[in-house]
Amino acid sequence: MIGGLDGFLKNARTELNLPQTMDVEYSKLTPKQRADWAFQITQNINYLKTTGSDRSQIPESPRKIVRDSQTRRLRLSDKVSILKSVTKGHYSRLNALGLNNVTDLIWHFPHRHNDYSTIRKVSELTPGQEQTVVATVWESSETGPPRRRSTQAVLGDDTGNFRAIWFNQPYMTRVLKHGTEVVISGRVDIFKGRITFRSPEYEYLRDQEQLLHTGRLVPVYPSTERLPQRTLRRIIREGLTRCKDQIEEYLPTDILSRTGLQSLQNAVGQIHYPSNHTSLNIARKRLAFDELFMIQLAVARRRQEWREPGTAIQINLDVDNVIQRFLLTLPFTLTNAQTKVLNEITNEIQKDIPMSRLIQGDVGSGKTVVAASAMLATVASGYQCALMAPTEILAEQHFATICSLFSQNAGGKPNLQDSKLSIRIEGIEKPVRIGLLLGSLKQNAKKKIQEQISNHEIDIVVGTQALIQDSINIPNLALAIVDEQHRFGVLQRSSLREKGQRPHVLAMSATPIPRSLALTLCGDLDISTIDELPGGRKPIKTRWIDPDRRHVAYEFVRRQIRDGRQAFIVFPLVEESDMIQARAATVEYDRLSKEVYPELKLGLLHGRMTLKEKELIMDQFQRNVFEILVSTSVIEVGIDVPNATTIVIDGAHRFGLSQIHQFRGRVGRGVHQSYCLLLADSPGEDARERLKTVERVSDGFQLAEEDLRLRGPGDYLGTRQSGLHNLRVARISDTETINLARREAKRILDVDPDLSDPQHHKLRKSYAAYYSSYPDELS
Ligand code: ADP
Ligand code: MG
Repeated sequence: MIGGLDGFLKNARTELNLPQTMDVEYSKLTPKQRADWAFQITQNINYLKTTGSDRSQIPESPRKIVRDSQTRRLRLSDKVSILKSVTKGHYSRLNALGLNNVTDLIWHFPHRHNDYSTIRKVSELTPGQEQTVVATVWESSETGPPRRRSTQAVLGDDTGNFRAIWFNQPYMTRVLKHGTEVVISGRVDIFKGRITFRSPEYEYLRDQEQLLHTGRLVPVYPSTERLPQRTLRRIIREGLTRCKDQIEEYLPTDILSRTGLQSLQNAVGQIHYPSNHTSLNIARKRLAFDELFMIQLAVARRRQEWREPGTAIQINLDVDNVIQRFLLTLPFTLTNAQTKVLNEITNEIQKDIPMSRLIQGDVGSGKTVVAASAMLATVASGYQCALMAPTEILAEQHFATICSLFSQNAGGKPNLQDSKLSIRIEGIEKPVRIGLLLGSLKQNAKKKIQEQISNHEIDIVVGTQALIQDSINIPNLALAIVDEQHRFGVLQRSSLREKGQRPHVLAMSATPIPRSLALTLCGDLDISTIDELPGGRKPIKTRWIDPDRRHVAYEFVRRQIRDGRQAFIVFPLVEESDMIQARAATVEYDRLSKEVYPELKLGLLHGRMTLKEKELIMDQFQRNVFEILVSTSVIEVGIDVPNATTIVIDGAHRFGLSQIHQFRGRVGRGVHQSYCLLLADSPGEDARERLKTVERVSDGFQLAEEDLRLRGPGDYLGTRQSGLHNLRVARISDTETINLARREAKRILDVDPDLSDPQHHKLRKSYAAYYSSYPDELS
């Protein structure tokens, strides 16, 4: 139609006998409206052809009829296949994304938004930014070789023209017909001197309110390649429009009014299509609260169950002042921080409410001696203790440490060949019997220890996960200690808890957990922090050394050894397999022994060695039989050799801050200045930042916060059971919302512990539904 259909209609109106309702500007209609209009006008014409001019006889558009039958109320539980915008092909792809019903769709939140909210004139476009224009299509055509067809279009408004290109989307020429008004959003580039949009988002200009893909904050969803954003947006939008009003508020009104949080319905609407940045943040806050609230409810309920009064054994601390007398035998006095934490523990274990406490303290802060004091008091009261460590070598070392700590006043070093020792301690009538239980023990030896534990012929049992096996029974267990607790899951922690009646539980961690994370991850625990290193220790000097200056690091180690010190050289490969790690460490060991340090004695430690071999090596290193210990990551925790002052970490770029910090904690345990040298071949951008941070920051807590910021919470083991992996909106660094959720969860459970109050009916339902999709979190 030359000059457009409207021009034609102006003249043909009378001739066509157009009804009033159809007297519209055709060019302003949406495609769908146009189709309706065309349908009606054809009907009209046909009618005129046959009968003359009675317009009341014109039938309604069939589309309208179909629409009526489709607007049967869609429910949240309906399958996505019912939606108009979902085709057969979409269906399986939606399912692959885990989107099966309308609820899933609505709760499929965008991971970000593109800000196309300010509409500019063409003359105002700035290269390099994401922007939006409203423009008219002047021309569009397909160009390029067959497989690499592209659609090029020239568009413009009254201030100028620009070009847009789409690749491999042949239908675009049909979309971009001459004269069409569209909204284009995307990044603006200059190409051959002209303003260009490459594969921008586009949309026909209609009602500004209705824009989905352009001209606003546009949601970008987690998706697959086979389900383009445009399609997913259309589908989710349909679900939202038709079902949003069915979303039920489940938070009790008093929580809503106290916290000032937005209603769930509005929040869900705004998280997809926010009116602006502020309302997006308000919506985020509400939805983040909900996620954290569910976790905090679970955590608080777990805590409530565990902390039932009258169930725990009360430790009598007055038995001959055993702790005070023990501390006097030590070659050092406790730091203030150690004393404070020990008091927190003893305060609790004399009560009949089971303790659930986490001691956090940087490597070398002296957690072991605090734990040992609590154990001693427990034994003096006539009960048993268990100490569980994540690895055999660490369990061994604990066994040795505890034996020698207790032997201080008995004089001399205990003979550690046995896996059971009796030590006479002043103030305790009977000698303290300490046992070591490892998975690798011979069947007979294991059985013997097991029997001794269940007959209470052993007072303190140190061991690995072997301790929580079903066959182990610790009848008088009153204090269970878990070292390096972040290595264990919540499940393992609670299995140890079940070994006695209701033992007091003490977890220890040298990987400081950022406060925000601790509240979520360990919300069921109270936290004590040893925030001070024993005096006289100097911060470890850390340097990141260019790999081509490797010899400088080796030379540095040599000088330290000349001064009588010892060193670690570690190859902490990321490979899961002990075998591969062992092989790599062996190769390095050979190279270092022959080529770099032919005049020195070196030792090798890796995960494929038997416990006896490892023990021997550690013992020799401790006694300075050799100067350099070449090792895999098995030395990560607990190894205590005060004379070792340098650690070289090869391949440091592959590790997180907290892990590097753990390795670094192997040195600086004596009076000498210690050093950590980091070697990293061509580290990426992220790794560079980590290495720089670890060079700069020596405080473990500060590092943990940085690690959380740089890598997210994925690095903390045990996060799986905590629900952190299911967080979609909440940020784990958002202490404010975490605290709010915690406070409200506690408040509600204080008055209604099992959520049985009718007021909390909906909350109870949502809670149950939430945890039925993640059942492992409840354990
Ligand atoms: P961690 O907290 O990393 O487990 P340990 O308990 O292994 O630390 O203690 C590290 C070292 O510091 C041990 O050799 C221990 O004997 C020593 N130590 C502990 N407390 C003190 C103290 N108050 N003064 C001096 N040395 C201490
Ligand atoms: Mg320790």
